[in-house]
Amino acid sequence: MGEAHHVTQAVHNDATEIRGARAVFLGPPGAGKGTQAQRLAADAAGLAHLSTGDMLRAAVKAGTPLGQEAKGYMDAGKLVPDEVIIGLVQERIGGGGERTTRLESWILDGFPRTLPQAEALDKSLGDECLTRVVAFTIQPEVLVKRLSGRRTCANCGHIHHIEFHPPKADGSCRSCGHAELLHRSDDQPEAIRKRLQVYEEQTAPLLDYYRGTGVLKELDADRAPEAVYQELLQVMK
Ligand code: AMP
Repeated sequence: MGEAHHVTQAVHNDATEIRGARAVFLGPPGAGKGTQAQRLAADAAGLAHLSTGDMLRAAVKAGTPLGQEAKGYMDAGKLVPDEVIIGLVQERIGGGGERTTRLESWILDGFPRTLPQAEALDKSLGDECLTRVVAFTIQPEVLVKRLSGRRTCANCGHIHHIEFHPPKADGSCRSCGHAELLHRSDDQPEAIRKRLQVYEEQTAPLLDYYRGTGVLKELDADRAPEAVYQELLQVMK
């Protein structure tokens, strides 16, 4: 039986089979969307990981007008206005105007987060609808612990957790060895509570929006990252 199990896993563990994906990762903050998307994009050739949170944090760091506008919302755990984020995503995946070229294969991590965002995404995709929406499901109690222990590499963005996926012994990044790991300003208790509330009120309703489309798959995210990843490979096929 052990062997049969092993064979099954070997057959299913192939990220290279994922081609032409237009996928959305949906789920509350701390569910592991970013961690899983990072790994999948590294394993599957040509698959772009598009995190709207990462895009906004880069804009904040660079001090662009977008970053200056977004920072206050982000630090408070609120969503930035739809029109701001919709334009940003359309720019990245194409379809926002004639001058943009379309990306072939991508995962959207952290977008859409509201009904108007989901509708705008559908509209800009036109006939090329989404191939998959993966809903990461998890008990809210787990999320606070996950988020408050999260540390992100300032250089490569690798996501750590001080307890579950710690940095190297000298405190540096497990992936690139960079010394500086960041504790996100919105991974503090008050902003975490607000973000979870915002998720319930504004983002969770998207589950119903996608339920009727046939592309939605739910994934139990309350497990070790490896177990989640193996199932993710299956549902992305
Ligand atoms: P994340 O890294 O996905 O947790 O996003 C961090 C923060 O960026 C969120 O709490 C929001 O303030 C902002 N943000 C990211 N994506 C969106 C989105 N799709 N709509 C509105 N705000 C967003």
